[in-house]
Amino acid sequence: MSRIFNFSAGPSVIPEAVLTQAQAELLDWHSTGMSVMEMSHRGKEFMSIAEELKTDLIELLAIPYNYKVLFLQGGATGQFSFIPQNILRGKTKACYVNTGAWSTKAIKAAKNYCEVIISASSESSNFTNIPKINNWVLDQDAAYLHYTSNETIQGVEFQDIPDTQGIPLVCDMSSNILSRSVDVSRYGIIYAGTQKNMGPSGVVVVIVRDDLLGAVDKSLPDIFDYSKQNKNDSMLNTPATYNWYLVGLVMKWLKAQGGIQAIEKQNIAQANKLYQAIETSDLYSNPVDNAYRSRMNIPFVLKDSTLDKAFLTGADKNGLIGLKGHRLVGGMRASIYNAMTDAGVDALLEFMVEFEKTS
Ligand SMILES: *Cc1c(COP(=O)(O)O)cnc(C)c1O
Repeated sequence: MSRIFNFSAGPSVIPEAVLTQAQAELLDWHSTGMSVMEMSHRGKEFMSIAEELKTDLIELLAIPYNYKVLFLQGGATGQFSFIPQNILRGKTKACYVNTGAWSTKAIKAAKNYCEVIISASSESSNFTNIPKINNWVLDQDAAYLHYTSNETIQGVEFQDIPDTQGIPLVCDMSSNILSRSVDVSRYGIIYAGTQKNMGPSGVVVVIVRDDLLGAVDKSLPDIFDYSKQNKNDSMLNTPATYNWYLVGLVMKWLKAQGGIQAIEKQNIAQANKLYQAIETSDLYSNPVDNAYRSRMNIPFVLKDSTLDKAFLTGADKNGLIGLKGHRLVGGMRASIYNAMTDAGVDALLEFMVEFEKTS
């Protein structure tokens, strides 16, 4: 067996140790004689898995006691609609910051439920930076302000938490959750799909401050209602049990690495290496403003786009996959989530240098 280096944006690389453990436990979890896949979600075995998953996530992110942690379905995309439906709380407006493709989608969905105020947008610069906060429109009547901490497609990442002057802050953290330390108490809601930094697809984590939960419109189905899901431990219907288990293994892996502090160091070092290589090359370039470059998703273009195909073919031959950029921006993108190893980044760098020399 040989494993490739996977630079896909999501689903994406999962720590090998996690896959090996899942393999070892596949047929018989902890001498129960059954696979996690086969367990009742109400049984004591799965309950212990669910409990540990939640406890480990709370510990890793240092989530304060007044937050509820939900494990839901429908992805981050579902939350684009469920957030306004759950936390408008009778208000009619919400603020959104538009920094790229994912913010744009969140805005489009929210417009079905409320008046959307665009607090700031970097669309005119083709989403290569983040507008300075002193120029943001902060409407105090807004129910919340939504932003995307890391734009997975454009490779633009907030380096600080914006100060919204009291407006509850809602963040789509899908592609950088657990990659850097954050002060959860600054947020009203943090949500993230699991298929980037937390394991396989199929689960979305929603961390919500309890005072934002409350009465929702009767037309909202119970399974999309955060309070009802919270009262039922995210088990109003049968949860994606095996995915919860895998996400749980990733949490344990991250703790064993030394938690967020340790992984953040690794992420900074890996991203710096790649950006430096791009900066010093005549062939590769990255259009994003230095101050907002993502540590997780590193897009780059080749000076001559007719070389793209040869680059991708060559990369593939060298066991480097998932490097094709999103069609919206073209070129290449290296997604280097928590589970990407230094060896993977080094192999990519080596290939990039060699390709530049020989092309
Ligand atoms: C991947 C991604 C999404 C979409 O996640 P789904 O699970 O496909 O709904 C949303 N926002 C960001 C920032 C993402 O990276």
